Amino acid sequence: MAKIKVLVNGAAGKMGREVVKAVSKEKDLELVGAVDIAEIGVDAGSLVGINPMNVEVSRDLDKTIKMTKPDVVVDFTHPNVAMDNTRAILNNKVNAVVGTTGFAEENLKEIKKLCSLNKVNCIVAPNFAVGAVLMMKFAKQASRVLPNVEIIELHHDQKADSPSGTAIKTAEMIIEERGKHDLKPKATKDIEKLDGVRGGDMDGVHIHSVRLPGFVAHQEVIFGGVGQTLTIRHDSISRESFMPGVVLSIRKVKDLPGLTYGLESIL
Ligand code: NAP
Repeated sequence: MAKIKVLVNGAAGKMGREVVKAVSKEKDLELVGAVDIAEIGVDAGSLVGINPMNVEVSRDLDKTIKMTKPDVVVDFTHPNVAMDNTRAILNNKVNAVVGTTGFAEENLKEIKKLCSLNKVNCIVAPNFAVGAVLMMKFAKQASRVLPNVEIIELHHDQKADSPSGTAIKTAEMIIEERGKHDLKPKATKDIEKLDGVRGGDMDGVHIHSVRLPGFVAHQEVIFGGVGQTLTIRHDSISRESFMPGVVLSIRKVKDLPGLTYGLESIL
Protein backbone atom coordinates (compact mmCIF):
# COMPACT_ATOMS: atom_id res chain seq x y z
CA MET A 1 0.00 0.00 0.00
CA ALA A 2 1.31 3.49 -0.86
CA LYS A 3 2.57 5.47 2.10
CA ILE A 4 0.84 8.68 3.16
CA LYS A 5 3.17 11.57 2.24
CA VAL A 6 3.40 14.10 5.07
CA LEU A 7 4.77 17.65 5.19
CA VAL A 8 5.29 19.18 8.65
CA ASN A 9 4.94 22.96 8.91
CA GLY A 10 6.62 24.37 12.01
CA ALA A 11 8.99 21.37 11.95
CA ALA A 12 11.61 23.09 14.14
CA GLY A 13 9.13 23.94 16.91
CA LYS A 14 8.39 21.93 20.04
CA MET A 15 5.32 20.21 18.55
CA GLY A 16 6.69 20.05 14.99
CA ARG A 17 9.76 18.11 16.16
CA GLU A 18 7.53 15.57 17.94
CA VAL A 19 5.48 15.18 14.75
CA VAL A 20 8.64 14.57 12.68
CA LYS A 21 9.68 11.84 15.17
CA ALA A 22 6.18 10.33 15.25
CA VAL A 23 5.98 10.20 11.43
CA SER A 24 9.40 8.51 11.27
CA LYS A 25 8.12 5.70 13.52
CA GLU A 26 5.03 4.84 11.42
CA LYS A 27 5.49 2.38 8.52
CA ASP A 28 2.59 3.81 6.51
CA LEU A 29 3.74 7.45 6.77
CA GLU A 30 6.58 9.15 4.91
CA LEU A 31 7.99 12.60 5.66
CA VAL A 32 8.38 14.39 2.32
CA GLY A 33 8.69 17.99 3.51
CA ALA A 34 9.59 20.10 6.54
CA VAL A 35 8.99 23.84 6.70
CA ASP A 36 9.91 26.40 9.34
CA ILE A 37 11.29 29.93 9.62
CA ALA A 38 14.19 28.56 11.68
CA GLU A 39 16.77 25.79 11.06
CA ILE A 40 16.57 26.21 7.26
CA GLY A 41 18.69 23.65 5.40
CA VAL A 42 19.03 21.32 8.39
CA ASP A 43 17.98 17.69 7.87
CA ALA A 44 14.67 17.06 9.67
CA GLY A 45 15.91 13.77 11.14
CA SER A 46 19.14 15.29 12.49
CA LEU A 47 17.11 18.20 13.87
CA VAL A 48 15.11 15.86 16.10
CA GLY A 49 18.06 13.65 17.05
CA ILE A 50 17.28 10.63 14.88
CA ASN A 51 18.85 9.29 11.66
CA PRO A 52 18.89 11.73 8.71
CA MET A 53 15.65 11.57 6.72
CA ASN A 54 16.89 13.26 3.52
CA VAL A 55 14.36 16.04 4.04
CA GLU A 56 15.82 19.50 4.58
CA VAL A 57 13.90 22.18 6.45
CA SER A 58 12.81 24.82 3.93
CA ARG A 59 11.36 28.31 4.36
CA ASP A 60 8.49 28.58 1.89
CA LEU A 61 5.35 26.54 2.58
CA ASP A 62 3.67 27.16 -0.79
CA LYS A 63 6.79 26.28 -2.83
CA THR A 64 7.55 23.21 -0.71
CA ILE A 65 3.99 21.89 -1.11
CA LYS A 66 4.27 22.30 -4.89
CA MET A 67 7.68 20.59 -4.95
CA THR A 68 7.01 17.69 -2.58
CA LYS A 69 3.30 17.02 -3.36
CA PRO A 70 2.29 15.79 0.12
CA ASP A 71 -1.01 14.02 0.82
CA VAL A 72 -1.31 15.80 4.17
CA VAL A 73 0.25 18.92 5.71
CA VAL A 74 0.42 19.07 9.50
CA ASP A 75 0.61 22.60 10.93
CA PHE A 76 1.96 23.46 14.40
CA THR A 77 3.20 27.04 14.03
CA HIS A 78 1.87 30.25 15.57
CA PRO A 79 -1.68 31.62 16.02
CA ASN A 80 -0.74 34.74 13.98
CA VAL A 81 0.10 32.71 10.86
CA ALA A 82 -2.08 29.63 11.22
CA MET A 83 -4.91 30.96 9.02
CA ASP A 84 -2.54 32.03 6.21
CA ASN A 85 -0.87 28.61 6.38
CA THR A 86 -4.21 26.81 6.28
CA ARG A 87 -5.30 28.88 3.25
CA ALA A 88 -2.04 27.99 1.47
CA ILE A 89 -2.46 24.28 2.19
CA LEU A 90 -6.12 24.03 1.16
CA ASN A 91 -5.68 26.25 -1.93
CA ASN A 92 -2.96 23.81 -3.04
CA LYS A 93 -5.68 21.12 -2.84
CA VAL A 94 -3.94 19.25 -0.05
CA ASN A 95 -5.61 17.88 3.12
CA ALA A 96 -4.63 19.64 6.36
CA VAL A 97 -4.25 18.60 9.99
CA VAL A 98 -4.00 21.77 12.05
CA GLY A 99 -2.98 21.79 15.70
CA THR A 100 -2.08 25.46 15.94
CA THR A 101 -4.51 27.20 18.27
CA GLY A 102 -6.18 30.61 18.12
CA PHE A 103 -8.79 30.13 15.37
CA ALA A 104 -11.87 32.35 15.65
CA GLU A 105 -15.36 31.31 14.56
CA GLU A 106 -14.98 33.27 11.28
CA ASN A 107 -11.70 31.41 10.54
CA LEU A 108 -13.46 28.07 10.90
CA LYS A 109 -16.22 29.27 8.55
CA GLU A 110 -13.60 30.28 5.98
CA ILE A 111 -11.82 26.91 6.31
CA LYS A 112 -15.13 25.15 5.69
CA LYS A 113 -15.62 27.18 2.49
CA LEU A 114 -12.03 26.58 1.32
CA CYS A 115 -12.48 22.84 1.86
CA SER A 116 -15.59 22.70 -0.31
CA LEU A 117 -14.11 25.04 -2.95
CA ASN A 118 -10.92 22.96 -3.28
CA LYS A 119 -12.56 19.58 -2.58
CA VAL A 120 -10.14 18.80 0.25
CA ASN A 121 -10.48 18.10 3.96
CA CYS A 122 -9.16 19.71 7.12
CA ILE A 123 -9.01 18.62 10.74
CA VAL A 124 -8.56 21.42 13.26
CA ALA A 125 -8.09 20.13 16.80
CA PRO A 126 -7.31 22.39 19.74
CA ASN A 127 -6.07 19.31 21.59
CA PHE A 128 -4.83 16.02 20.11
CA ALA A 129 -4.46 14.25 23.48
CA VAL A 130 -7.10 11.55 23.89
CA GLY A 131 -7.35 12.24 27.64
CA ALA A 132 -8.08 15.91 26.98
CA VAL A 133 -10.87 14.96 24.59
CA LEU A 134 -12.38 12.79 27.34
CA MET A 135 -12.00 15.66 29.84
CA MET A 136 -14.04 17.88 27.50
CA LYS A 137 -16.66 15.18 26.98
CA PHE A 138 -17.04 14.55 30.73
CA ALA A 139 -17.21 18.31 31.38
CA LYS A 140 -20.01 18.60 28.84
CA GLN A 141 -21.87 15.75 30.56
CA ALA A 142 -21.44 17.30 34.03
CA SER A 143 -22.75 20.68 32.84
CA ARG A 144 -26.19 19.12 32.32
CA VAL A 145 -26.64 18.99 36.09
CA LEU A 146 -23.98 21.35 37.46
CA PRO A 147 -24.22 24.67 35.58
CA ASN A 148 -21.73 26.59 37.78
CA VAL A 149 -18.25 25.97 36.46
CA GLU A 150 -14.82 27.57 36.12
CA ILE A 151 -11.85 26.47 34.02
CA ILE A 152 -8.22 26.74 35.03
CA GLU A 153 -5.75 25.98 32.24
CA LEU A 154 -2.02 25.79 32.92
CA HIS A 155 0.68 25.91 30.22
CA HIS A 156 4.41 26.50 29.75
CA ASP A 157 5.50 30.14 29.69
CA GLN A 158 6.34 30.12 25.94
CA LYS A 159 2.72 29.63 24.88
CA ALA A 160 1.73 32.43 22.49
CA ASP A 161 -2.02 32.66 23.15
CA SER A 162 -4.36 32.66 26.10
CA PRO A 163 -6.73 31.23 26.97
CA SER A 164 -5.79 27.93 25.37
CA GLY A 165 -7.82 26.56 22.45
CA THR A 166 -8.77 23.65 24.70
CA ALA A 167 -10.23 25.99 27.34
CA ILE A 168 -12.27 27.83 24.69
CA LYS A 169 -13.52 24.57 23.17
CA THR A 170 -14.42 23.21 26.64
CA ALA A 171 -16.34 26.40 27.46
CA GLU A 172 -18.16 26.28 24.09
CA MET A 173 -19.22 22.66 24.73
CA ILE A 174 -20.43 23.48 28.25
CA ILE A 175 -22.35 26.57 27.10
CA GLU A 176 -24.03 24.66 24.27
CA GLU A 177 -25.02 21.78 26.56
CA ARG A 178 -26.28 24.08 29.34
CA GLY A 179 -28.36 25.92 26.74
CA LYS A 180 -29.96 22.67 25.57
CA HIS A 181 -31.07 21.93 29.15
CA ASP A 182 -32.13 25.54 29.77
CA LEU A 183 -29.66 25.90 32.66
CA LYS A 184 -27.93 29.13 33.69
CA PRO A 185 -25.02 29.60 36.11
CA LYS A 186 -25.78 31.47 39.33
CA ALA A 187 -24.39 35.02 39.14
CA THR A 188 -21.61 35.79 41.60
CA LYS A 189 -21.38 39.09 43.50
CA ASP A 190 -17.75 40.01 43.40
CA ILE A 191 -15.91 43.31 43.54
CA GLU A 192 -12.67 42.86 41.56
CA LYS A 193 -9.95 44.53 43.62
CA LEU A 194 -7.43 43.53 40.96
CA ASP A 195 -8.27 43.74 37.24
CA GLY A 196 -8.88 40.34 35.65
CA VAL A 197 -8.64 38.45 38.92
CA ARG A 198 -11.83 36.49 38.13
CA GLY A 199 -10.41 35.47 34.74
CA GLY A 200 -12.01 35.81 31.31
CA ASP A 201 -15.78 35.39 31.12
CA MET A 202 -17.31 33.30 28.30
CA ASP A 203 -21.07 33.39 28.89
CA GLY A 204 -20.61 32.89 32.63
CA VAL A 205 -17.79 30.34 32.33
CA HIS A 206 -14.74 31.98 33.94
CA ILE A 207 -11.41 30.93 32.41
CA HIS A 208 -8.09 31.40 34.22
CA SER A 209 -4.77 31.01 32.38
CA VAL A 210 -1.61 30.12 34.29
CA ARG A 211 1.74 30.46 32.42
CA LEU A 212 4.81 29.04 34.17
CA PRO A 213 7.99 27.17 33.23
CA GLY A 214 7.67 23.49 34.09
CA PHE A 215 4.13 23.01 32.78
CA VAL A 216 3.35 21.35 29.41
CA ALA A 217 -0.47 21.49 28.99
CA HIS A 218 -2.95 20.98 31.83
CA GLN A 219 -6.55 21.85 32.55
CA GLU A 220 -8.99 21.64 35.44
CA VAL A 221 -12.71 22.05 35.00
CA ILE A 222 -14.26 22.72 38.42
CA PHE A 223 -18.01 22.37 38.89
CA GLY A 224 -19.69 23.69 42.04
CA GLY A 225 -23.02 22.52 43.43
CA VAL A 226 -24.71 22.77 46.82
CA GLY A 227 -22.26 21.32 49.36
CA GLN A 228 -20.07 19.70 46.69
CA THR A 229 -17.54 20.30 43.93
CA LEU A 230 -16.48 18.09 41.05
CA THR A 231 -13.05 18.55 39.46
CA ILE A 232 -12.17 17.02 36.10
CA ARG A 233 -8.46 17.36 35.38
CA HIS A 234 -6.22 16.41 32.50
CA ASP A 235 -2.42 16.65 32.37
CA SER A 236 -0.21 16.35 29.30
CA ILE A 237 3.15 15.78 30.93
CA SER A 238 4.98 15.36 27.62
CA ARG A 239 4.29 16.42 24.01
CA GLU A 240 4.29 12.73 23.03
CA SER A 241 0.76 12.67 24.52
CA PHE A 242 -0.51 14.50 21.41
CA MET A 243 1.08 12.17 18.85
CA PRO A 244 -1.42 9.26 18.70
CA GLY A 245 -4.13 11.85 17.93
CA VAL A 246 -2.00 13.56 15.28
CA VAL A 247 -1.10 10.25 13.60
CA LEU A 248 -4.74 9.12 13.65
CA SER A 249 -5.77 12.44 12.07
CA ILE A 250 -3.12 12.10 9.33
CA ARG A 251 -4.54 8.67 8.51
CA LYS A 252 -8.21 9.71 8.65
CA VAL A 253 -8.31 13.19 7.14
CA LYS A 254 -8.79 12.01 3.55
CA ASP A 255 -12.01 10.20 4.54
CA LEU A 256 -13.58 13.02 6.59
CA PRO A 257 -15.30 15.44 4.20
CA GLY A 258 -14.79 19.17 4.75
CA LEU A 259 -13.87 20.60 8.13
CA THR A 260 -13.67 18.44 11.24
CA TYR A 261 -13.28 20.56 14.39
CA GLY A 262 -12.03 18.64 17.42
CA LEU A 263 -10.69 15.13 17.78
CA GLU A 264 -13.84 13.82 19.47
CA SER A 265 -15.62 13.16 16.18
CA ILE A 266 -12.78 10.88 15.02
CA LEU A 267 -12.24 8.73 18.11
P1 NAP B 1 6.84 26.57 19.02
O1 NAP B 1 7.79 25.72 19.75
O2 NAP B 1 6.99 28.06 19.10
O3 NAP B 1 6.87 26.10 17.49
C1 NAP B 1 6.33 26.79 16.42
C2 NAP B 1 7.32 26.71 15.27
O4 NAP B 1 6.73 27.27 14.13
C3 NAP B 1 8.61 27.49 15.57
O5 NAP B 1 9.74 26.78 15.11
C4 NAP B 1 8.38 28.77 14.79
O6 NAP B 1 9.59 29.42 14.42
C5 NAP B 1 7.65 28.21 13.56
N1 NAP B 1 6.94 29.21 12.79
C6 NAP B 1 6.45 30.41 13.17
N2 NAP B 1 5.87 31.04 12.13
C7 NAP B 1 6.00 30.20 11.05
C8 NAP B 1 5.59 30.27 9.70
N3 NAP B 1 4.96 31.33 9.23
N4 NAP B 1 5.88 29.23 8.88
C9 NAP B 1 6.52 28.14 9.35
N5 NAP B 1 6.94 28.03 10.63
C10 NAP B 1 6.67 29.04 11.47
O7 NAP B 1 5.33 26.25 19.47
P2 NAP B 1 4.70 24.83 19.85
O8 NAP B 1 4.76 24.65 21.32
O9 NAP B 1 5.24 23.77 18.95
O10 NAP B 1 3.17 25.11 19.52
C11 NAP B 1 2.74 25.43 18.20
C12 NAP B 1 1.23 25.63 18.19
O11 NAP B 1 0.59 24.40 18.50
C13 NAP B 1 0.71 26.64 19.22
O12 NAP B 1 -0.40 27.34 18.69
C14 NAP B 1 0.24 25.76 20.37
O13 NAP B 1 -0.75 26.35 21.17
C15 NAP B 1 -0.31 24.59 19.58
N6 NAP B 1 -0.42 23.32 20.31
C16 NAP B 1 -1.48 22.54 19.96
C17 NAP B 1 -1.63 21.30 20.52
C18 NAP B 1 -2.79 20.45 20.08
O14 NAP B 1 -2.95 19.32 20.58
N7 NAP B 1 -3.60 20.91 19.15
C19 NAP B 1 -0.72 20.84 21.47
C20 NAP B 1 0.36 21.65 21.82
C21 NAP B 1 0.51 22.89 21.20
P3 NAP B 1 10.21 30.52 15.47
O15 NAP B 1 10.46 29.80 16.74
O16 NAP B 1 11.45 30.97 14.78
O17 NAP B 1 9.16 31.58 15.61
